[in-house]
Amino acid sequence: MTRIIDGKAISAQIKEELKVRVSELKKEGKDICLAVIQVGSDPASSVYVNNKKRACEFIGIRSLSYELEENTSEEKLLEMIHELNDRADVNGILVQLPLPEHINEDKILKAIHPKKDVDGFHPQNVGALCIGELGFVSCTPAGIIQLLKRSGVEIEGKECVIIGRSNIVGKPMAMLLLRENGTVTVTHSRTRNLKEVCRRADILVVAIGKPKMITKEYVKEGAVVIDVGIHRNENNKLCGDVDYDDVAPICSAITPVPGGVGPMTIAMLMHNCVESIKLQ
Ligand code: NDP
Repeated sequence: MTRIIDGKAISAQIKEELKVRVSELKKEGKDICLAVIQVGSDPASSVYVNNKKRACEFIGIRSLSYELEENTSEEKLLEMIHELNDRADVNGILVQLPLPEHINEDKILKAIHPKKDVDGFHPQNVGALCIGELGFVSCTPAGIIQLLKRSGVEIEGKECVIIGRSNIVGKPMAMLLLRENGTVTVTHSRTRNLKEVCRRADILVVAIGKPKMITKEYVKEGAVVIDVGIHRNENNKLCGDVDYDDVAPICSAITPVPGGVGPMTIAMLMHNCVESIKLQ
């Protein structure tokens, strides 16, 4: 029987735990505050930003919302980040991506103080993850580790194959699986014999950005499959990078899309906001 890893239920559990932690911190006089900046009004970004604000409200984190015009200059945005970096009452700063083309994303992400970088994208936090020091970890891969652990999937000693080497998913995922003592292989568009390499995996993490590309030919019988992809198919329904109907019957556990990895990303963002107290 294939187990469906329920990201909605696991993320709800994490948010409940965080809510308790935040109310304890409040009793000690510690309030947590997240500043969320959105430039422009891309509808998908607005949905993500609203979901983040709602999660803050549920957990008891104060959120400050900055909605800037599409034509806001890079200088103006940098100025705002510097102000928020200096404010003692702001624990986390999040700039919703993507940014308009005239703004250098890299420059903006590097301007956020590493101790307020709750997305975990600053080079200092990426470096900390690589050498096993304390820091913020990118939310999607951190959420995948929680999905695996809370579903009782053992990572230690397992063959873990990741498809994709992006800075926000593939690479931090590799570091986290390594930290959990998995044997890690990272594949990408130049990998030879991708199917063969993937079929070695006990745990296959797919972050390729291609709708339903991964079929059962890529999957070993009994493997655990984590699908990071999010796409809309021809009927405007959400689907992942994995062809779920084809793959689910042969694996031991799989994450659905929607309801798998997606909800975990916000839960881990909230986790990072709460952890910020420790780092600051
Ligand atoms: P990127 O486009 O940044 O990276 C895709 C990776 O896949 C690259 O490393 C690329 O290789 C590799 N790749 C592309 N085509 C192939 C191929 N044919 N064979 C092997 N490797 C290939 O994507 P992201 O990591 O940002 O995101 C991946 C997916 O996850 C997307 O669908 C995205 O929407 C989703 N996502 C979901 C999140 C969530 O909360 N659930 C959060 C973040 C992302 P190369 O480096 O060689 O180009």
